[in-house]
Amino acid sequence: MRKTRPSAFSVVIVLNRSLLLFLVASAPIAQLDRVSGFEPDGYRFESCSVQMSSILSHTQESFVERIFSLLGKGKVHARLLYSHWMKMGSLEGLEVEPQARPLLEEMIRLTDFSVPGHRVAFEDDGTVKFLVELDSLECESVLIPMKAKSTLCISSQVGCKMGCTFCETGRMGLLRSLSVREIVSQVFIAKRVMKKRVDNIVFMGMGEPFDNFEAVMGALDVLTEDAGLGFGPSRITVSTSGLVDQIDAFTERADPALHLAVSVNAPNDAIRRKIMPVNRQWDMAALKRAMARYCENPRREILIEYVLMKGINDSLECADELAHYLRGLRVKVNLIPYNPQSRDRFAPPDEAVVDAFLERMRARGYLTLARRTKGQKIMAACGQLGNLQLRRKIFLDRSSQSHPGCA
Ligand code: SAH
Ligand code: SF4
Repeated sequence: MRKTRPSAFSVVIVLNRSLLLFLVASAPIAQLDRVSGFEPDGYRFESCSVQMSSILSHTQESFVERIFSLLGKGKVHARLLYSHWMKMGSLEGLEVEPQARPLLEEMIRLTDFSVPGHRVAFEDDGTVKFLVELDSLECESVLIPMKAKSTLCISSQVGCKMGCTFCETGRMGLLRSLSVREIVSQVFIAKRVMKKRVDNIVFMGMGEPFDNFEAVMGALDVLTEDAGLGFGPSRITVSTSGLVDQIDAFTERADPALHLAVSVNAPNDAIRRKIMPVNRQWDMAALKRAMARYCENPRREILIEYVLMKGINDSLECADELAHYLRGLRVKVNLIPYNPQSRDRFAPPDEAVVDAFLERMRARGYLTLARRTKGQKIMAACGQLGNLQLRRKIFLDRSSQSHPGCA
Protein backbone atom coordinates (compact mmCIF):
# COMPACT_ATOMS: atom_id res chain seq x y z
CA MET A 1 0.00 0.00 0.00
CA ARG A 2 1.20 3.51 -0.74
CA LYS A 3 2.05 5.80 2.13
CA THR A 4 1.45 9.36 1.11
CA ARG A 5 2.25 12.42 3.16
CA PRO A 6 1.14 15.77 1.84
CA SER A 7 3.94 17.98 0.67
CA ALA A 8 4.37 20.86 -1.69
CA PHE A 9 5.70 18.41 -4.20
CA SER A 10 2.85 15.90 -4.02
CA VAL A 11 0.43 18.77 -4.53
CA VAL A 12 2.25 19.54 -7.75
CA ILE A 13 1.84 15.93 -8.82
CA VAL A 14 -1.86 15.94 -8.14
CA LEU A 15 -2.37 19.23 -9.94
CA ASN A 16 -0.40 18.54 -12.99
CA ARG A 17 1.76 15.48 -13.48
CA SER A 18 3.22 16.65 -16.74
CA LEU A 19 4.35 19.84 -15.06
CA LEU A 20 6.57 17.73 -12.84
CA LEU A 21 9.08 16.78 -15.44
CA PHE A 22 9.41 20.37 -16.49
CA LEU A 23 9.95 21.40 -12.87
CA VAL A 24 12.48 18.67 -12.32
CA ALA A 25 14.21 19.37 -15.58
CA SER A 26 14.67 22.98 -14.71
CA ALA A 27 15.44 22.54 -11.02
CA PRO A 28 18.90 23.27 -9.69
CA ILE A 29 20.42 20.84 -7.23
CA ALA A 30 19.00 22.51 -4.13
CA GLN A 31 15.46 22.15 -5.44
CA LEU A 32 16.11 18.61 -6.57
CA ASP A 33 16.93 17.68 -3.03
CA ARG A 34 13.42 18.69 -2.19
CA VAL A 35 11.73 16.62 -4.87
CA SER A 36 13.83 13.58 -4.20
CA GLY A 37 13.80 13.04 -0.51
CA PHE A 38 14.79 16.02 1.59
CA GLU A 39 13.24 19.38 2.13
CA PRO A 40 15.10 22.23 3.74
CA ASP A 41 12.68 22.31 6.65
CA GLY A 42 13.33 18.66 7.34
CA TYR A 43 10.06 17.54 5.77
CA ARG A 44 10.54 14.22 4.06
CA PHE A 45 8.83 13.50 0.77
CA GLU A 46 7.63 9.93 0.60
CA SER A 47 5.28 9.10 -2.24
CA CYS A 48 5.79 5.33 -2.03
CA SER A 49 6.64 2.67 0.49
CA VAL A 50 9.84 1.65 -1.27
CA GLN A 51 13.10 2.56 0.48
CA MET A 52 14.83 5.43 -1.32
CA SER A 53 18.20 4.64 -2.75
CA SER A 54 20.88 7.21 -3.50
CA ILE A 55 21.93 7.42 -7.11
CA LEU A 56 25.45 8.21 -5.87
CA SER A 57 25.79 4.72 -4.43
CA HIS A 58 25.07 3.00 -7.73
CA THR A 59 26.91 2.04 -10.87
CA GLN A 60 24.80 2.45 -13.98
CA GLU A 61 24.05 -1.28 -14.12
CA SER A 62 23.06 -1.58 -10.47
CA PHE A 63 20.86 1.51 -10.84
CA VAL A 64 19.16 0.04 -13.92
CA GLU A 65 18.69 -3.32 -12.16
CA ARG A 66 17.11 -1.62 -9.16
CA ILE A 67 14.66 0.35 -11.28
CA PHE A 68 13.81 -2.75 -13.32
CA SER A 69 13.23 -4.82 -10.19
CA LEU A 70 10.82 -2.17 -8.90
CA LEU A 71 9.00 -1.27 -12.10
CA GLY A 72 9.51 -4.30 -14.33
CA LYS A 73 10.48 -2.00 -17.19
CA GLY A 74 12.38 1.16 -18.05
CA LYS A 75 15.94 -0.08 -18.53
CA VAL A 76 16.71 2.30 -21.41
CA HIS A 77 15.39 5.37 -19.61
CA ALA A 78 17.02 4.40 -16.31
CA ARG A 79 20.32 4.20 -18.14
CA LEU A 80 19.71 7.65 -19.63
CA LEU A 81 18.66 9.13 -16.27
CA TYR A 82 21.78 7.76 -14.59
CA SER A 83 24.30 9.01 -17.12
CA HIS A 84 22.62 12.41 -17.44
CA TRP A 85 22.61 13.04 -13.68
CA MET A 86 26.12 11.79 -13.07
CA LYS A 87 27.57 13.77 -15.98
CA MET A 88 25.59 17.00 -15.56
CA GLY A 89 24.99 17.08 -11.81
CA SER A 90 21.37 17.99 -12.41
CA LEU A 91 18.37 16.83 -14.41
CA GLU A 92 18.29 20.02 -16.41
CA GLY A 93 18.22 19.30 -20.11
CA LEU A 94 17.12 15.69 -19.74
CA GLU A 95 14.66 15.18 -22.53
CA VAL A 96 12.52 12.15 -23.23
CA GLU A 97 9.64 11.51 -25.61
CA PRO A 98 6.28 12.61 -24.09
CA GLN A 99 4.94 9.05 -23.69
CA ALA A 100 7.99 8.12 -21.56
CA ARG A 101 7.53 11.00 -19.12
CA PRO A 102 5.33 9.19 -16.59
CA LEU A 103 7.86 6.36 -16.46
CA LEU A 104 10.72 8.80 -15.89
CA GLU A 105 8.75 10.59 -13.19
CA GLU A 106 8.26 7.26 -11.44
CA MET A 107 12.00 6.57 -11.55
CA ILE A 108 12.75 10.00 -10.20
CA ARG A 109 10.35 9.41 -7.32
CA LEU A 110 12.09 6.15 -6.48
CA THR A 111 15.54 7.73 -6.39
CA ASP A 112 17.35 9.87 -3.86
CA PHE A 113 19.24 12.62 -5.70
CA SER A 114 20.27 14.45 -2.58
CA VAL A 115 23.89 15.54 -2.30
CA PRO A 116 25.38 16.22 1.15
CA GLY A 117 25.96 19.87 1.92
CA HIS A 118 29.48 21.21 1.90
CA ARG A 119 31.39 24.31 2.87
CA VAL A 120 34.79 25.55 1.88
CA ALA A 121 36.88 25.62 5.04
CA PHE A 122 40.01 27.32 3.68
CA GLU A 123 41.55 28.25 0.40
CA ASP A 124 45.22 29.03 -0.03
CA ASP A 125 47.78 28.71 -2.74
CA GLY A 126 45.08 27.28 -5.05
CA THR A 127 44.49 24.45 -2.58
CA VAL A 128 40.91 24.16 -1.38
CA LYS A 129 39.93 22.26 1.75
CA PHE A 130 36.20 21.59 1.89
CA LEU A 131 34.05 19.89 4.49
CA VAL A 132 31.24 17.54 3.56
CA GLU A 133 28.34 17.36 5.99
CA LEU A 134 27.47 13.90 7.32
CA ASP A 135 24.73 13.84 9.95
CA SER A 136 26.27 15.75 12.84
CA LEU A 137 29.83 15.11 11.61
CA GLU A 138 31.94 16.32 8.72
CA CYS A 139 34.64 14.77 6.61
CA GLU A 140 37.41 16.67 4.91
CA SER A 141 38.49 16.66 1.28
CA VAL A 142 41.28 18.63 -0.32
CA LEU A 143 41.64 19.73 -3.91
CA ILE A 144 45.27 20.26 -4.84
CA PRO A 145 46.05 21.91 -8.15
CA MET A 146 49.44 20.92 -9.56
CA LYS A 147 51.08 22.35 -12.69
CA ALA A 148 48.98 20.63 -15.32
CA LYS A 149 46.73 18.39 -13.27
CA SER A 150 44.52 18.69 -10.28
CA THR A 151 44.32 16.02 -7.57
CA LEU A 152 41.43 15.49 -5.20
CA CYS A 153 42.33 13.92 -1.87
CA ILE A 154 39.28 12.21 -0.34
CA SER A 155 38.38 10.61 2.98
CA SER A 156 37.12 7.11 3.63
CA GLN A 157 36.33 7.59 7.33
CA VAL A 158 35.78 10.34 9.85
CA GLY A 159 38.88 9.95 12.00
CA CYS A 160 40.91 6.76 12.00
CA LYS A 161 41.52 4.00 14.48
CA MET A 162 45.04 3.07 13.35
CA GLY A 163 46.68 5.49 15.78
CA CYS A 164 49.83 6.45 13.86
CA THR A 165 51.61 8.78 16.26
CA PHE A 166 52.61 11.36 13.63
CA CYS A 167 49.13 11.83 12.13
CA GLU A 168 46.50 14.38 13.11
CA THR A 169 43.64 12.14 11.95
CA GLY A 170 45.01 9.27 14.02
CA ARG A 171 44.74 11.39 17.14
CA MET A 172 40.99 11.71 16.68
CA GLY A 173 40.28 7.99 16.85
CA LEU A 174 37.57 6.59 14.59
CA LEU A 175 34.19 8.30 14.66
CA ARG A 176 32.69 6.36 11.81
CA SER A 177 33.27 4.90 8.38
CA LEU A 178 31.75 6.52 5.32
CA SER A 179 29.18 4.89 3.04
CA VAL A 180 29.65 4.50 -0.71
CA ARG A 181 27.39 7.52 -1.21
CA GLU A 182 29.45 9.65 1.16
CA ILE A 183 32.76 8.71 -0.45
CA VAL A 184 31.43 9.32 -3.97
CA SER A 185 29.78 12.59 -2.85
CA GLN A 186 33.19 14.17 -2.22
CA VAL A 187 34.10 13.73 -5.87
CA PHE A 188 30.62 14.67 -7.10
CA ILE A 189 30.70 17.89 -5.06
CA ALA A 190 34.15 18.90 -6.32
CA LYS A 191 33.38 18.14 -9.94
CA ARG A 192 29.68 18.74 -10.45
CA VAL A 193 28.74 21.19 -7.68
CA MET A 194 31.91 23.27 -7.23
CA LYS A 195 32.69 22.71 -10.95
CA LYS A 196 36.37 22.12 -10.28
CA ARG A 197 38.67 20.26 -12.56
CA VAL A 198 39.62 16.89 -11.05
CA ASP A 199 42.18 14.79 -12.89
CA ASN A 200 43.28 12.36 -10.21
CA ILE A 201 41.76 11.01 -7.00
CA VAL A 202 43.79 9.82 -4.03
CA PHE A 203 42.38 8.08 -0.94
CA MET A 204 44.80 9.93 1.31
CA GLY A 205 42.39 12.05 3.31
CA MET A 206 40.96 11.04 6.66
CA GLY A 207 40.85 7.40 7.51
CA GLU A 208 42.26 4.04 6.57
CA PRO A 209 40.56 2.95 3.32
CA PHE A 210 41.18 -0.73 4.03
CA ASP A 211 39.46 -0.44 7.40
CA ASN A 212 36.35 0.41 5.34
CA PHE A 213 37.10 -2.04 2.60
CA GLU A 214 33.68 -2.88 1.11
CA ALA A 215 32.52 0.74 0.92
CA VAL A 216 35.80 1.79 -0.71
CA MET A 217 35.55 -1.01 -3.28
CA GLY A 218 31.92 -0.02 -3.96
CA ALA A 219 32.93 3.64 -4.36
CA LEU A 220 35.72 2.65 -6.77
CA ASP A 221 33.11 0.90 -8.93
CA VAL A 222 30.98 4.05 -9.05
CA LEU A 223 33.91 6.45 -9.62
CA THR A 224 35.25 4.39 -12.53
CA GLU A 225 31.85 3.96 -14.17
CA ASP A 226 32.19 5.11 -17.78
CA ALA A 227 28.61 6.28 -17.99
CA GLY A 228 29.01 8.28 -14.80
CA LEU A 229 31.94 10.12 -13.26
CA GLY A 230 34.22 8.22 -15.63
CA PHE A 231 37.58 8.22 -13.82
CA GLY A 232 39.84 5.70 -15.49
CA PRO A 233 41.23 3.35 -12.80
CA SER A 234 44.75 4.56 -13.54
CA ARG A 235 43.71 8.00 -12.23
CA ILE A 236 42.91 6.67 -8.75
CA THR A 237 45.29 5.78 -5.92
CA VAL A 238 44.28 3.99 -2.72
CA SER A 239 46.69 4.45 0.17
CA THR A 240 46.92 2.04 3.11
CA SER A 241 48.96 1.90 6.28
CA GLY A 242 49.52 -1.80 5.59
CA LEU A 243 46.53 -4.00 6.45
CA VAL A 244 47.84 -7.24 5.01
CA ASP A 245 44.58 -9.20 4.69
CA GLN A 246 42.95 -6.32 2.85
CA ILE A 247 45.96 -5.83 0.58
CA ASP A 248 45.47 -9.47 -0.43
CA ALA A 249 41.77 -8.89 -1.02
CA PHE A 250 42.60 -5.80 -3.09
CA THR A 251 45.13 -7.84 -5.10
CA GLU A 252 42.37 -10.28 -5.89
CA ARG A 253 39.53 -7.90 -6.64
CA ALA A 254 40.85 -4.56 -7.84
CA ASP A 255 41.31 -3.53 -11.44
CA PRO A 256 45.05 -3.89 -12.14
CA ALA A 257 45.17 -0.32 -13.42
CA LEU A 258 44.20 1.12 -10.01
CA HIS A 259 47.20 2.35 -8.02
CA LEU A 260 48.08 1.10 -4.57
CA ALA A 261 50.15 3.19 -2.16
CA VAL A 262 51.57 1.72 1.05
CA SER A 263 52.69 3.92 3.94
CA VAL A 264 55.84 2.13 5.03
CA ASN A 265 57.31 5.11 6.91
CA ALA A 266 60.11 3.16 8.59
CA PRO A 267 63.06 1.01 7.58
CA ASN A 268 62.65 -1.67 10.27
CA ASP A 269 60.18 -3.13 12.75
CA ALA A 270 61.73 -1.45 15.78
CA ILE A 271 61.00 2.04 14.44
CA ARG A 272 57.76 1.17 12.68
CA ARG A 273 56.26 -0.49 15.76
CA LYS A 274 56.78 2.72 17.70
CA ILE A 275 55.13 5.05 15.21
CA MET A 276 52.54 2.76 13.56
CA PRO A 277 50.62 0.40 15.87
CA VAL A 278 49.45 -1.61 12.81
CA ASN A 279 52.98 -3.04 12.70
CA ARG A 280 52.21 -5.05 15.85
CA GLN A 281 49.55 -6.97 13.94
CA TRP A 282 51.42 -7.30 10.66
CA ASP A 283 55.17 -6.82 10.81
CA MET A 284 57.27 -5.62 7.90
CA ALA A 285 58.03 -9.14 6.67
CA ALA A 286 54.30 -9.94 6.41
CA LEU A 287 53.75 -6.58 4.71
CA LYS A 288 56.48 -7.30 2.19
CA ARG A 289 55.01 -10.71 1.35
CA ALA A 290 51.62 -9.09 0.67
CA MET A 291 53.26 -6.41 -1.50
CA ALA A 292 55.10 -9.15 -3.42
CA ARG A 293 51.83 -10.97 -4.08
CA TYR A 294 50.36 -7.71 -5.34
CA CYS A 295 53.29 -7.19 -7.70
CA GLU A 296 52.96 -10.67 -9.21
CA ASN A 297 50.81 -9.01 -11.87
CA PRO A 298 53.38 -7.30 -14.12
CA ARG A 299 51.01 -4.37 -14.70
CA ARG A 300 51.17 -3.44 -11.04
CA GLU A 301 53.60 -1.41 -9.05
CA ILE A 302 53.34 0.11 -5.58
CA LEU A 303 53.88 3.65 -4.45
CA ILE A 304 55.84 3.51 -1.20
CA GLU A 305 55.11 6.47 1.06
CA TYR A 306 57.73 7.42 3.61
CA VAL A 307 57.12 10.31 6.00
CA LEU A 308 60.51 11.72 6.97
CA MET A 309 60.75 12.74 10.63
CA LYS A 310 63.79 14.45 12.02
CA GLY A 311 66.01 12.13 13.99
CA ILE A 312 63.49 9.26 13.77
CA ASN A 313 63.81 7.72 10.31
CA ASP A 314 65.74 10.21 8.17
CA SER A 315 69.38 9.02 8.38
CA LEU A 316 71.33 7.58 5.45
CA GLU A 317 71.47 4.26 7.32
CA CYS A 318 67.68 4.31 7.31
CA ALA A 319 67.74 4.94 3.55
CA ASP A 320 70.04 1.95 3.05
CA GLU A 321 67.86 -0.25 5.21
CA LEU A 322 64.73 0.87 3.40
CA ALA A 323 66.37 0.18 0.04
CA HIS A 324 67.27 -3.30 1.24
CA TYR A 325 63.74 -3.93 2.50
CA LEU A 326 62.18 -2.96 -0.82
CA ARG A 327 64.50 -5.12 -2.92
CA GLY A 328 62.58 -7.37 -5.34
CA LEU A 329 59.38 -5.28 -5.31
CA ARG A 330 58.22 -3.12 -8.21
CA VAL A 331 57.95 0.24 -6.44
CA LYS A 332 58.30 3.97 -6.67
CA VAL A 333 59.19 5.85 -3.52
CA ASN A 334 57.55 9.04 -2.38
CA LEU A 335 59.27 10.92 0.44
CA ILE A 336 56.95 13.17 2.45
CA PRO A 337 58.62 15.63 4.80
CA TYR A 338 56.67 15.52 8.07
CA ASN A 339 53.91 18.13 8.24
CA PRO A 340 53.41 19.88 11.54
CA GLN A 341 50.44 18.98 13.76
CA SER A 342 48.28 21.08 16.04
CA ARG A 343 50.41 19.69 18.89
CA ASP A 344 53.79 18.47 17.72
CA ARG A 345 55.71 15.42 18.86
CA PHE A 346 57.99 15.32 15.83
CA ALA A 347 59.89 17.78 13.68
CA PRO A 348 60.29 18.02 9.92
CA PRO A 349 63.68 17.01 8.53
CA ASP A 350 66.14 19.60 7.26
CA GLU A 351 65.93 20.18 3.54
CA ALA A 352 69.48 18.97 3.01
CA VAL A 353 68.60 15.73 4.80
CA VAL A 354 65.61 15.19 2.50
CA ASP A 355 67.87 15.73 -0.53
CA ALA A 356 70.50 13.33 0.79
CA PHE A 357 67.90 10.64 1.55
CA LEU A 358 66.43 11.10 -1.93
CA GLU A 359 69.80 10.83 -3.63
CA ARG A 360 70.70 7.71 -1.63
CA MET A 361 67.46 5.98 -2.65
CA ARG A 362 68.07 6.92 -6.27
CA ALA A 363 71.64 5.66 -6.04
CA ARG A 364 70.21 2.35 -4.78
CA GLY A 365 68.14 2.15 -7.97
CA TYR A 366 64.72 3.41 -6.84
CA LEU A 367 62.69 5.98 -8.68
CA THR A 368 62.21 8.42 -5.81
CA LEU A 369 60.42 11.74 -5.50
CA ALA A 370 60.03 14.12 -2.60
CA ARG A 371 56.55 15.55 -2.29
CA ARG A 372 56.28 19.29 -2.41
CA THR A 373 53.73 19.90 0.26
CA LYS A 374 50.83 22.20 -0.49
CA GLY A 375 48.20 23.45 1.88
CA GLN A 376 50.28 23.25 5.07
CA LYS A 377 49.08 26.61 6.29
CA ILE A 378 45.46 25.56 6.11
CA MET A 379 46.11 22.15 7.74
CA ALA A 380 45.21 20.43 4.48
CA ALA A 381 48.44 18.58 3.80
CA CYS A 382 49.07 14.87 4.38
CA GLY A 383 48.36 13.82 7.94
CA GLN A 384 46.88 17.18 8.90
CA LEU A 385 43.21 16.44 8.44
CA GLY A 386 41.12 16.32 11.57
CA ASN A 387 39.53 19.59 12.42
CA LEU A 388 39.38 21.08 15.84
CA GLN A 389 35.59 21.28 16.01
CA LEU A 390 35.40 17.55 15.41
CA ARG A 391 37.97 16.92 18.06
CA ARG A 392 36.03 19.07 20.47
CA LYS A 393 32.91 17.07 19.65
CA ILE A 394 34.66 13.77 20.38
CA PHE A 395 35.92 15.19 23.62
CA LEU A 396 32.40 16.24 24.63
CA ASP A 397 30.90 12.90 23.56
CA ARG A 398 33.51 10.98 25.47
CA SER A 399 33.19 13.05 28.59
CA SER A 400 29.40 12.71 28.50
CA GLN A 401 29.87 8.92 28.19
CA SER A 402 32.12 8.79 31.21
CA HIS A 403 29.85 11.14 33.21
CA PRO A 404 26.37 10.13 32.10
CA GLY A 405 24.72 12.45 34.56
CA CYS A 406 26.27 15.60 33.11
CA ALA A 407 24.39 17.71 30.66
N1 SAH B 1 45.42 5.87 6.11
C1 SAH B 1 46.06 5.85 4.86
C2 SAH B 1 45.72 7.05 4.00
C3 SAH B 1 45.60 8.37 4.68
S1 SAH B 1 47.09 9.05 5.33
C4 SAH B 1 47.56 5.73 5.04
O1 SAH B 1 48.03 5.85 6.17
O2 SAH B 1 48.22 5.45 4.05
C5 SAH B 1 47.90 9.61 3.85
C6 SAH B 1 49.38 9.75 3.97
O3 SAH B 1 49.71 10.80 4.89
C7 SAH B 1 50.09 8.50 4.51
O4 SAH B 1 51.16 8.16 3.67
C8 SAH B 1 50.62 8.95 5.85
O5 SAH B 1 51.80 8.26 6.21
C9 SAH B 1 50.86 10.43 5.61
N2 SAH B 1 50.95 11.25 6.82
C10 SAH B 1 50.30 11.07 7.99
N3 SAH B 1 50.66 12.03 8.86
C11 SAH B 1 51.56 12.82 8.25
C12 SAH B 1 52.28 14.00 8.64
N4 SAH B 1 52.13 14.54 9.84
N5 SAH B 1 53.12 14.55 7.73
C13 SAH B 1 53.26 14.02 6.50
N6 SAH B 1 52.59 12.94 6.07
C14 SAH B 1 51.76 12.34 6.94
FE1 SF4 C 1 45.12 6.53 9.94
FE2 SF4 C 1 46.70 6.85 7.78
FE3 SF4 C 1 46.71 8.66 9.79
FE4 SF4 C 1 47.75 6.23 10.19
S1 SF4 C 1 48.47 7.79 8.74
S2 SF4 C 1 46.37 7.32 11.59
S3 SF4 C 1 46.38 4.98 8.97
S4 SF4 C 1 45.00 8.20 8.44
